[in-house]
Amino acid sequence: MDDCIFCKIAAGEIPADLVYEDDTVVAFRDLNPQAPTHVLVIPRAHIATLNELKPEQEGIVGRMFSAAKEIAAQEGFAEAGYRTVINCNEAGGQTVFHIHLHLLGGRMMNWPPG
Ligand code: 5GP
Ligand code: ZN
Repeated sequence: MDDCIFCKIAAGEIPADLVYEDDTVVAFRDLNPQAPTHVLVIPRAHIATLNELKPEQEGIVGRMFSAAKEIAAQEGFAEAGYRTVINCNEAGGQTVFHIHLHLLGGRMMNWPPG
């Protein structure tokens, strides 16, 4: 997707504070963090929303969660706990239409979320 900001970050065309990358996913710090650690894990493939996920892409989402748990351990809050969130479409609060897993840690999380 030519005009997708997260495709550009994955391609290295827009700078980001990367914390992890492999052949399938890229993870970088959120520009507007909502917790002491707020990382976004994205697939290199452009998938606009969770609704567009194809059965053959299920492994990509698994890799996103595996990366998130590895980053949580690196950041030192795996045992204390953390939150992973994928927002979908307007009512879900999605503003960037390339799927991303939010990894939030370093503080107590509230439930239910806003
Ligand atoms: P959403 O609301 O779609 O679930 O989350 C989008 C997230 O992307 C927001 O938390 C926002 O702060 C973050 N974001 C938007 N544009 C950029 C960017 O250019 N760089 C980084 N690092 N984060 C971004
Ligand atoms: Zn994209």
